[in-house]
Amino acid sequence: MVASTFAAACGICTKHTYDFILTGPNFYCMRKSLLLLLLLGSTTILNAQNRLPHSPLPLPIARWTTLAEKLNGYCKKYIDEPLDLKYSLPDSLFQQWRSYEFVKDEEQASKYLIIITLDGMRWQEVFMGADSILWNQALQKSRLPLQTADFQGASPEKRREKLMPFLWSQIAQHGQIYGNRNKASTVSVTNKMRISYPGYNEIFAGYPDDQHIKLNFKIPNPNSNVLRFIGQNRSFRGRVASFASWDVFPSIFNAKMGGLYINAAFQPVQNNHFSHLNRQLKSVSKLWGKHLRPDSLTTAYALQYLRQHAPRVLHIGLGETDEYAHEKKYAEYLLAAQANDRMISQIWQFVQSSPRYRNKTTLFITTDHGRGNSPATWHKHHGWVDGAEEIWFAVMGPQTAPLGEIAHSTPYFQCQFAQTFAAFLGLEYQGNKAVAGKISDLFIQRSLPLEQKIININPDNQLITKK
Ligand SMILES: [Zn+2]
Repeated sequence: MVASTFAAACGICTKHTYDFILTGPNFYCMRKSLLLLLLLGSTTILNAQNRLPHSPLPLPIARWTTLAEKLNGYCKKYIDEPLDLKYSLPDSLFQQWRSYEFVKDEEQASKYLIIITLDGMRWQEVFMGADSILWNQALQKSRLPLQTADFQGASPEKRREKLMPFLWSQIAQHGQIYGNRNKASTVSVTNKMRISYPGYNEIFAGYPDDQHIKLNFKIPNPNSNVLRFIGQNRSFRGRVASFASWDVFPSIFNAKMGGLYINAAFQPVQNNHFSHLNRQLKSVSKLWGKHLRPDSLTTAYALQYLRQHAPRVLHIGLGETDEYAHEKKYAEYLLAAQANDRMISQIWQFVQSSPRYRNKTTLFITTDHGRGNSPATWHKHHGWVDGAEEIWFAVMGPQTAPLGEIAHSTPYFQCQFAQTFAAFLGLEYQGNKAVAGKISDLFIQRSLPLEQKIININPDNQLITKK
């Protein structure tokens, strides 16, 4: 009681008051409280000196930021921990700060987000591995030294583990995977085109746009997109990037509008740290002309960018699966999927070996569209192909409970991904049209009152709270 009164008197927000109650009055808290008192005094003086009528805070953001930086310096010096000054505001001002920054649930947010898209990768192979009919056809016509043991198995579970071992070990154990229609989990695109540009638009705009985005031509996307929105936020400025194999991505993200760094296809990165990759880019064989860079090089660029630039949000757009499928090369399509899984594993290994990214990063993997759902139509996808609307996604990160493959789930839609990406970072995406809601099931609900919680037990017997 004394502790909470002391904390309240010093203007500490509710979160810190609770900390204070739980930990009791200690030297750390008292020093923190004194700094807060100093802060509030300074705020009042600055406020009286320089109030802007349209500012959501009682003093201009620039003055506040300077003050915050100075006080953070003191905090680092005296209490070994930078003080997040947003939390030092009285609750009413704290709410205003949050709305100014579009920040929500910040204390639960991931600090980093990596989105990986596998172009036109069917849910059928993701959840069941190599299809036996297509595999046998592929063996007859392929000149590749294929090993049946590398792709086949007695059950769908065995086959999918061979095709995508990282997905079915790491993500199945530590994250969630949606889209197995055989287990009543459906994920669908809502655009009617069911091809790539409309799919990527739906993923990143948060809504379909069948009126303007009908084909895969390189026209600048007129729609808002969540990556640009995130990149325009003060905390993320200059720290959002996309590396893509396909040369249409600069149009999909409307590169000229800024907000994120985009590197696609055979565009080198003008930086000495990338010169070895730029040399490879020049010499690599162009299997699909100039419009698609090999996925392995896209991944290598993305990895180097992670090391050198430490982006907070990174999209990696891989494309070989779609190319091989269109060519009806099932074996190569599987090999590309298997290689993509290894690339994702490489990215995750780097993330978990880096003190900056480890345990603070959400990984989201999905596809832009499905493909035909029969042996005769598996290779193609468009508005009239049955199954081309059927997609999947997989997620792993600090806000997502480790529930593995999800059966009997709420039906989800591609247009929900954009708001979900923003929500992982504690933001609320505002597009230039109505944006679909986030996928709430991906977020551990830490703040619900006890009586509203459903307690599940995972295989490791750890308690998980899930909405
Ligand atoms: Zn395609």
